Amino acid sequence: MSRDSRNDEDFSSQTRGTGIDRRKLLKTAGAGLVAGALPWNAGGEPIRPKGGSLAIASSNGLGTVAEAVTWMGKKVRPVSAAVRGVAGVEADPDDLSVGYGGLPNEDGVVQLDAACMDGPAHNAGSVACLEGIKHPAQVAELVMDRTDHVNLVGKGAKRFALEHGFPEEELLTDRARQIWLKWRAKRSGDDRLWPLGDTDPADPALQGEARPWGTIHCSALAPNGDLGCCTTTSGLAFKIPGRIGDSPLIGCGLYCDNEVGSAGGTGRGEAAIHSGGSWLVVERMRSGDTPEEACLFALRRVAKQAYRQSRWQPTLWDGDRPGFGLTFYALRRDGLYGSATLRGKPGDAKFAVCDSRGARLEACAVAFPIVAS
Ligand code: ASP
Repeated sequence: MSRDSRNDEDFSSQTRGTGIDRRKLLKTAGAGLVAGALPWNAGGEPIRPKGGSLAIASSNGLGTVAEAVTWMGKKVRPVSAAVRGVAGVEADPDDLSVGYGGLPNEDGVVQLDAACMDGPAHNAGSVACLEGIKHPAQVAELVMDRTDHVNLVGKGAKRFALEHGFPEEELLTDRARQIWLKWRAKRSGDDRLWPLGDTDPADPALQGEARPWGTIHCSALAPNGDLGCCTTTSGLAFKIPGRIGDSPLIGCGLYCDNEVGSAGGTGRGEAAIHSGGSWLVVERMRSGDTPEEACLFALRRVAKQAYRQSRWQPTLWDGDRPGFGLTFYALRRDGLYGSATLRGKPGDAKFAVCDSRGARLEACAVAFPIVAS
């Protein structure tokens, strides 16, 4: 069978033959909600959530979702609650994938991407390749609220941030610098040497990944059904200077439509861009998918595209599954939520959620499960 002749069904589930029934993997999260129900009532009006405030995030966002719910309890709009929620991760030197302490580009410079989207106004703002500003999501929120633009990049984004009183700060921590120096020493073709007496090939926080991804996405739902979201990242480690990932691109690293729901992604940004991933997740929810089904649908589309692309870039495909990581998170207007990741052992990948039951991690569904033989 040629690559291009494979249809959606060929990518529908790698669970076939693994003894796992994908339907059983689909769970209905959110107490009292019916999976598959459209987020509108019979009159076509969006239905209201049954619970109070709710927020979901990537697994590094346990504190973020709790913060976002607290802010919504104080009547802060969901998009601002999400932006405030991610601030702690942006300022955390131990998170190597976001804000201060994030891994730099190939020149050793930390360049940050972030975006936010406000459901009620259907408005968005973003910054990309922003240097020296610790809280890019807050700058993105100002782009949304104080300009008629959506995207600001590089020097223009920085000038805009400085004009609005953000302090300029060095974002490269010593730890991130050491990791970058080792990465550079491992590159062949130049005269850089490995540090003397150092045999450790990588920082344990990199979890064996030579060039890790990492990001935080947060989607937030207020009790009246209003939605908002934001995504913030230092992007792919050691990227080419000027590379823009999916996080600041509306429809790719995040998307929200107040009539339907909110979604975002973390992982290989190029795949979320090629697929319009977050937009696709929201549109699938509009058609009646549960959040988890919508995430799985988008991931299967990503897989199909990666298979074709692997003709030119073989590392994108690994045996019978995509060779990279990508996770989508989705929150429907009625309070149903879910997440799915592209590949991995079932139960390994988690996402954060906070509602009236408090903040916790839940398991993501897996589009292409790796099951121990
Ligand atoms: N999606 C981000 C990017 O490609 C990185 C990540 O989420 O890990 O820039």
